[in-house]
Amino acid sequence: MQHLAIFGGTFDPIHWGHLLIAEAALQQVSVEKVIWVPSLNPPHKKAAAFRHRLAMLQLATQDNPRFTVSLVENNRSGVSYAIDTLLDLCACFPNTHWYWIVGLDTFQSLPRWYRGHEIAQMCDWLIAPRLLGGENIAQSELICKQVKQQLGEQSHTINWHFLDIPLVGVSSSLIRKLYRTGKSIRYLVPEDVISYIAAHNLYSDDSE
Ligand code: ATP
Repeated sequence: MQHLAIFGGTFDPIHWGHLLIAEAALQQVSVEKVIWVPSLNPPHKKAAAFRHRLAMLQLATQDNPRFTVSLVENNRSGVSYAIDTLLDLCACFPNTHWYWIVGLDTFQSLPRWYRGHEIAQMCDWLIAPRLLGGENIAQSELICKQVKQQLGEQSHTINWHFLDIPLVGVSSSLIRKLYRTGKSIRYLVPEDVISYIAAHNLYSDDSE
């Protein structure tokens, strides 16, 4: 049986925080490959065009043979739900033990995901620490237990593992904001991605 991790996100744009987390999944758990899945129509976010987010993801991940970018969400119409992505990937890669990489903030929202209680049990969760408003890292375990509780009785089989990474305060929204206001995003985002953003005039009129 192979061990694969899904890393879903908007990646608007991809940043070093994402890359650090994916590398930790490869190094710290028995994951053979990370499948990056850019969301086509993220349910709760307005985002740059899929083709741009995809191109930046490809630029940033192409030098790592254990990273793959999946177009699985591009093959469906409508809102991109995680459960559909996982079911599609299960069909493409049978006999696989699945992991899902998330930041703590995303894991915290799992009870509100479409069919969240089902997907919760279909894979092991690799959770990257992330500073949340007012909370600190010591509360991560508590937050995960609350998620389990919110998912209800059937959730006893949820497995999670904390990735051991330094807390990284970078986010895509921070990068868009810095870029829009003329500040440097160097060392927050890979160089190729910065060039792509400039060449395609992205994020100059972001309303955030
Ligand atoms: P935005 O700022 O636009 O909300 P984001 O930086 O959170 O974007 P996403 O593409 O939405 O980026 O995130 C994909 C996944 O990566 C999510 O599970 C998110 O929690 C996680 N993630 C992103 N940045 C970090 C970070 N610095 N530390 C931990 N997890 C992160």
